Amino acid sequence: MKTLATRKVLALCALLLVALPAMARKPLKPKAPPPSIAITVDASEAPRHILHARLTIPATPGEMTFYYPKWVPGEHGPTGPIAELAGVKFTFNGQPLAWRRDLVDMYAFLVQVPQAATTVEVTLDFLLPSQGMFSGGASASAQMGVLSWNQVLLYPKGWTSDELTYTATLRLPEGWKYGTALDTAKESPQGVEFAPVSLTTLVDSPVIMGAHYRVAPLAAGETPSHEIDMAADSEVALEMSPESREAYNQLVAETGALFGARHYRHYHFLLSLSDNVAHFGLEHHESSDNRIGERSLVDENLRKASAGLLPHEFVHSWNGKHRRPAGLATPDYQQPMKTDLLWVYEGLTTYLGGILTARSGLETPEQYREDLALVAAELDNRPGRTWRPLADTAVAAQTLYGAPSEWSSWRRGVDFYDESDLIWLEADVTLRQLSHGQRSLDDFCHRFHGGQSGPPALKTYTFEDVVNTLNEVAPYDWKAFLTARLNSTSPRAPLGGIEGGGWKLAYNETLPGQQQARESTRQYIDVSYSLGFRVNNGGGVLDVIPGTPAAEAGLAPGTKILGVDGRRWNPSRSPNLLREAIRAAKGRSQPLRLLVENADYYKTIEINYHGGERYPHLERDASKPDLLGEIIKPHATSGP
Ligand SMILES: [Zn+2]
Repeated sequence: MKTLATRKVLALCALLLVALPAMARKPLKPKAPPPSIAITVDASEAPRHILHARLTIPATPGEMTFYYPKWVPGEHGPTGPIAELAGVKFTFNGQPLAWRRDLVDMYAFLVQVPQAATTVEVTLDFLLPSQGMFSGGASASAQMGVLSWNQVLLYPKGWTSDELTYTATLRLPEGWKYGTALDTAKESPQGVEFAPVSLTTLVDSPVIMGAHYRVAPLAAGETPSHEIDMAADSEVALEMSPESREAYNQLVAETGALFGARHYRHYHFLLSLSDNVAHFGLEHHESSDNRIGERSLVDENLRKASAGLLPHEFVHSWNGKHRRPAGLATPDYQQPMKTDLLWVYEGLTTYLGGILTARSGLETPEQYREDLALVAAELDNRPGRTWRPLADTAVAAQTLYGAPSEWSSWRRGVDFYDESDLIWLEADVTLRQLSHGQRSLDDFCHRFHGGQSGPPALKTYTFEDVVNTLNEVAPYDWKAFLTARLNSTSPRAPLGGIEGGGWKLAYNETLPGQQQARESTRQYIDVSYSLGFRVNNGGGVLDVIPGTPAAEAGLAPGTKILGVDGRRWNPSRSPNLLREAIRAAKGRSQPLRLLVENADYYKTIEINYHGGERYPHLERDASKPDLLGEIIKPHATSGP
């Protein structure tokens, strides 16, 4: 998954598929054939922010346990939105059945099933939230919505998600259209009936729907097929430019060149264009749930700020879904996941998604380098790395996704995205150097993610598998290479890939275009490498980096800037006001003064900084070959 906080598009991931064998998923104790469950979801009131569901579940007399999905694939934590469940009722033949919640597991419902009962009917509502993260975040507007099946279902204890079969029917709001990786069995006035699938596949196959809906087929004539299924808050928002369309065609071709095989029957990019849904990406095996602002296809700044989202989520079909760390391949949604290999699952996806964004032309080489410089500078100015090694950010991922921005440079965040981007770049550069340009990380991807094309299949891996495959491409002490970087508490970021790739991280006074695009679309100002903090356009201090001039002067995260050098803060002019004040303080002796409000008290903070504006860039090192340029140039010659 990918949040849109920085270059990372935290694409959340869900699970798998139709013909998928029950690999690594042993039945607990099947006493009968696995149950086949019918579910009907009425989404006709999605614009009113409520979904209604009815399930018919085969039952046996006595106490039965029904689970609400807790660990949502791709979200890397126990994030199932249980608080939004309401109106839960269990009945048999119309008679209500007594239930209680487990005293410890809030996701378990214990139901008394009478002797005569062969099925239990469950009705429930899902209260579509306006806040929250990922599939538990805002998912519907007045004009469109995304249904994640884990929101609206229960499943019986005793079976793996591969063993349970669900036949789903969906009723849409009047006049809305839909897109999904699920196969449609039939459409009728009662709704859309989908072909039966495993619970794994159902949860892995969200449905996008909307009044303003359009399908953009990609790589026409190729098998398997690819398409972008778009739903928006307005008709005009669906107008993808021919250039973007061509770049997405190229993205399909470039993944073919990179991986050499495809592990899906067809692929659907579900693309939400709305300012009224949560913004993120969540990966699935045959689709991805991508949610960005309404005007992201038609506004150049918004387009640039989200250019890497679809490539990242698409990569997850190979890296995350087909190949998955063993600790993330759980048999159901109750067993906790182990997230220690997220530096591969998310980190390698961040690297590959980034280079594919450039290879396909969704961004220019210069924009790619600007993104990379911003990532490198952030991590190279992150004091939290002196106490928390990168490996721990992966292990503790479930505590970091929802962490606030305040003190993030000292706490660290989900750095296994961006720092692994630097590490995988260094691995790529090292493979090229070891093999004198004959091998690269593309060869690793062919071996690790390629193989035989076909329907979705899950192949788990361990740390040793990663090391062994790297060794097959070019012998080296890859275990030591990775271990040193994962466990480092050096204050410096791993910049060996940038430097070995023929570039250097440097700072100058020019605001990078990619930073300008992000600041204007996300309404914040970043002066981390001059004064040492980030602030939102309203004056709220998002973070202050320990050891910087602002931190030394006493500025605290969570406080509010009311004025700069005697002039009142104003959301519309303050980005310029702050930058002009930094320029004015250059070469003068008086400090830059901030009037700050801290919990009802005012204070003037005097920052003795006179170095002018400072922003990160990559500068070419002419003494070395431009391997970075080699890495991001187009690789695909024709179709996928
Ligand atoms: Zn991701």
